[in-house]
Amino acid sequence: MKLSWKQYDLHLKHTFRISRSARDTASVMIVSFEHEGIVGYGEASPSSRYGESLETLVNFLSLINFEKFESPFLLDDILRYSETLLPGNSSAKCAVDIALHDWIGKKLGVPLHQMWGLNPKKIPLCSFTIAIDSKEAVEQKVREAEEYPILKVKLGLDNDKEMIDTIRKITDKPLYVDANEGWKTRERALESVKWLKKQNVVFIEQPMPASQFSDLQWLRDHSELPLIADESVVRLSDIPMLAQAFDGINIKLMKCTGLREALKMIHTAQAAGLKVMMGCMIETAVGISAAAQLGPLLDYCDLDGNVLITDDPFDGVRNTKGRLILNGKPGIGATPRMT
Ligand code: MG
Repeated sequence: MKLSWKQYDLHLKHTFRISRSARDTASVMIVSFEHEGIVGYGEASPSSRYGESLETLVNFLSLINFEKFESPFLLDDILRYSETLLPGNSSAKCAVDIALHDWIGKKLGVPLHQMWGLNPKKIPLCSFTIAIDSKEAVEQKVREAEEYPILKVKLGLDNDKEMIDTIRKITDKPLYVDANEGWKTRERALESVKWLKKQNVVFIEQPMPASQFSDLQWLRDHSELPLIADESVVRLSDIPMLAQAFDGINIKLMKCTGLREALKMIHTAQAAGLKVMMGCMIETAVGISAAAQLGPLLDYCDLDGNVLITDDPFDGVRNTKGRLILNGKPGIGATPRMT
């Protein structure tokens, strides 16, 4: 059992600005797990919000030693071991989790969604993200996104109203709104929610900082729109408390250490009466195709990380007019593009 990794610097079609940061490139690590002539692929897209970088990825991946495990089918043992190596390091753990799942699917000759008994036709329509920008740039992006039936709009700076007004002059599509913790007081957040309710907005993601839990509870009591946790939910253990302040959660493989924990989170959230969304970082078709295997279990799908980049080194799940189409290949269904 051998693990190797390679860095890719992905280029974004447009500058990706959210309430706390802006960037034109994203560096990810593609992990290859090789055993008995089969290669499973995984991906880590590190986020500084969760304390990761390319350096922490290399450090974590270098520590992994599969010697004491007889077979990749001992997935539970291997992932428990990976969990104990270091705290945090979620996207690095995720890369290992995806690569092992991919290997198992390939060894068995089945796509993961089939292994889990999921109907690939039940994936909800995927939203397309419009990041924060000038009026002119937002107009252009919204026109470019014409084929996508749902837009997810990043808000949380001082031009929220201009962003929404600009979009609403062009289209009446349903909008998801993501404030990325940008509204710092509950009064400001409630005022925004009230206005957005009138703009055909479906829900608000992470209106306020995760650290302001009691304000989020207050906001939920007063909000006429559903609130979805993103920065407030990292792992499975966060879910029971969140049911007091949110209507749903946004699960990301890169935050939660991978497919195995994501599946547990989906069932736990549903048992707590929470809606389930899956989102992503800027990722290649490896991370997105892995997440899409769980797509049939979702209420909301926001897996557009690879359609925001110009140079995806992998092929995998296709996004056609917001509909995610799994390709039926074994494992996660992602293959390297010939360059
Ligand atoms: Mg978000």
